[in-house]
Amino acid sequence: MSTPSTPNPRVRGSGCSLCGKPASPAVTPFCSPGCRDRDLLAWLGDGYRVPGPPVDEETISGLDSDAQSSL
Ligand SMILES: [Zn+2]
Repeated sequence: MSTPSTPNPRVRGSGCSLCGKPASPAVTPFCSPGCRDRDLLAWLGDGYRVPGPPVDEETISGLDSDAQSSL
């Protein structure tokens, strides 16, 4: 049997994921807290920008007319 060699995605010494500078062990795989924060903010930005289902105007107008008809 051959031992499966799984490649490590986080290779030590590969450099900062953002700017390519030598990564610091404290904030690996980034070189500095600044790069780490930038990457984190980018991730959060993507998360906040998740497009939800668009509100249909007909649904709103339908609810509105329904409320009016009940009056
Ligand atoms: Zn960096």
